[in-house]
Amino acid sequence: MEPLYLTIALDTPLDKVFDYRWLPASAQNESEQPQIGQIALVPFGRGGREAMAGLIVAISRETSVPLDKIKDVIEVRAQCQALSPAWIELCRFAAEYYQRPLGEVAIPALPKNLRVPKATSLNSNLKKLAKQKLAAPASDASPQQPASLNPEQTAAVEAITKVSPSQSFTPFLLHGVTGSGKTEVYLQAAAQVLAQDAQAQVLILVPEINLTPQLEGNIRQRFPGLQLATLHSGMAEGERLLHWLAAHTGHARIILGTRLAILASLPSLKMIIIDEEHDPSYKQQEGLRYSARDLAVWRARQLSIPVVLGSATPSLETWQHAKAGRYQQLNLTERAVKAAVLPVVKLINTEREKTSEGLTQRLVAAIRLRLDKGEQSLLFLNRRGYAPVIHCDACGWISNCTRCTAHLVMHKLDKRLRCHHCGLEQIIPRRCPTCGNVDLQPLGRGTQRLEEGLQLLFPEARVFRIDADSTRKKGSAEAAFDTVHRGEVDILIGTQMVAKGHDFKNLTLVAALNPDSALFSQDFRASERLFAQLMQVAGRAGRAAQKEGGNSSEVLIQTRYPDHPLYHALMAHDYNSFANDLLEERQHAAMPPFIYQALLRAEAKQLETAILFLKEAAHCLHHPGITINDPIPMSMTRVHNIDRAQLLIESTSRPALQAFLKEWITQLRGIKTSVKWGVEIDPVDV
Ligand code: ADP
Ligand code: ZN
Ligand code: ZN
Repeated sequence: MEPLYLTIALDTPLDKVFDYRWLPASAQNESEQPQIGQIALVPFGRGGREAMAGLIVAISRETSVPLDKIKDVIEVRAQCQALSPAWIELCRFAAEYYQRPLGEVAIPALPKNLRVPKATSLNSNLKKLAKQKLAAPASDASPQQPASLNPEQTAAVEAITKVSPSQSFTPFLLHGVTGSGKTEVYLQAAAQVLAQDAQAQVLILVPEINLTPQLEGNIRQRFPGLQLATLHSGMAEGERLLHWLAAHTGHARIILGTRLAILASLPSLKMIIIDEEHDPSYKQQEGLRYSARDLAVWRARQLSIPVVLGSATPSLETWQHAKAGRYQQLNLTERAVKAAVLPVVKLINTEREKTSEGLTQRLVAAIRLRLDKGEQSLLFLNRRGYAPVIHCDACGWISNCTRCTAHLVMHKLDKRLRCHHCGLEQIIPRRCPTCGNVDLQPLGRGTQRLEEGLQLLFPEARVFRIDADSTRKKGSAEAAFDTVHRGEVDILIGTQMVAKGHDFKNLTLVAALNPDSALFSQDFRASERLFAQLMQVAGRAGRAAQKEGGNSSEVLIQTRYPDHPLYHALMAHDYNSFANDLLEERQHAAMPPFIYQALLRAEAKQLETAILFLKEAAHCLHHPGITINDPIPMSMTRVHNIDRAQLLIESTSRPALQAFLKEWITQLRGIKTSVKWGVEIDPVDV
């Protein structure tokens, strides 16, 4: 038999695919011909000594590679069914759109154990799967009855599930206030899709790993007979492979995951749900900097299936799509639990009121009221550690990181100063490194210091802190949230980790401590984010009906700027006018979503090197309709002894920007430089 030539996409920065020869004799199973979409192990690197896994993207009887140069395929992983043309098309789109080689998108999207030279764990996992050994469905639990929907929920479920074939593809924006029962809409819409088709798969994306256990529990109770796969970055490789295979083989009918799940292989995908679609964590911030939300919309369009973007505070991009009629908007305007009402939001002026341990008297009194009635309070402070910096009063020394444009944060519990950017750690000095003064003072307040202060103010209360430091161990975050849900906590302190999604039933007070800094950030998205974050954390209060004799739910914001319009919009629970005002500003200033952006990032030992490279880049190509701004240092210039600068490219036309970038990147590849650079499309931190 004649040899076949397989074109393989490999995970290398080289923007090309590679041909390899396949001979029937070299295959383990002679009768099986390779197929497009299968994984193949091939020799790569100097002398072809390294075995690398790649994706077969084309098969031919001919090749342009000279026959004395071509290398043989080591092995085709025929035991694993081929990835579908639709999946390869998705990767191709992402590669094209984010300006990356196909292999750099497709291969990292596959579980590691599928790509390693030895296929033992693949084989054993395939066996496990055949025996249905995926985390067992909760067969013992009696199925949870779906809630009877209120009229707005009913309308939403109907709109999502009754899309007529003649209707053109339209994503749904489910705009529902906090506690309006968006989850119930997702689950009931999913139930219909799953019931209509015995193979159908539904993908549900959440912004944070910590939100998966709660939703996973709900899903298992609601669909006790169905296989559920979870996909997120906190999983061990073996577990990840098993769940990925469950999705890929169609065993799993519901797939719950964080952003990386958008690139999962889902052969029978029939619906995508993106909860908290505005959340910044849907944007990958390293490597392939993709937006899982945007890819989800593309994927749904490709398959002509419904996609639901849910949020109380949609991103302005999505909001603008809805206003322009490109997305169909579905509204949930009230809390779903009867007699649960949105909390009253009040501002406390910290310029006027005295504080102790960072808390005003009004806030202290409000916490006391909750303690008296056995209700919970949540204090939101988006800054972990004890104090963001320590300093010396005598000479002005402050604890800066020697490797970053950042302070070393004081962590009192383990007596360390720690850089949150590069990981540098040192013991808290006893005396000032410059003048020897022994009286070094913490400046400002992080969650640990707040915890200490609350224990002093309320010695009888059970104070509990949830942040990245308190939940480092695997499973500890889930355990921590369980502790709160079980009611074993009176005062919860938390960073943005606790702000999202959790359905705390006994929480009637939320306080946000000094969220002001975002009001004056250079980042034009800062106020959009702050509003979303505060709205979300406020939404944790009063989710159940008020208990008899209990406190009504309340949100207190300690601020130095009580006149700021953002806070007033928050008090009025008025996302709509806030968003509309912001959109108007953005339109005037020619900013996203009215224009499209890309960022060229450059990293070097010296800032000048990076800037010089960017200057050269800025001059090497011009297209009409493309604005190339001046290179600037990034706002946090130095991280781990590397200086970083950026160049912003803008256009009112997405296709024009794409065409420019394609040509430009080819030219940039030709520039000889020590600078590490990369292009990011639709950046969210500019
Ligand atoms: P959201 O995601 O919109 O913030 P959730 O989906 O968490 O809100 O719902 C808030 C609460 O309302 C949950 O406790 C949920 O069980 C309850 N709920 C949802 N829909 C209904 C309904 N139709 N009737 C009664 N309770 C409901
Ligand atoms: Zn000093
Ligand atoms: Zn550092």
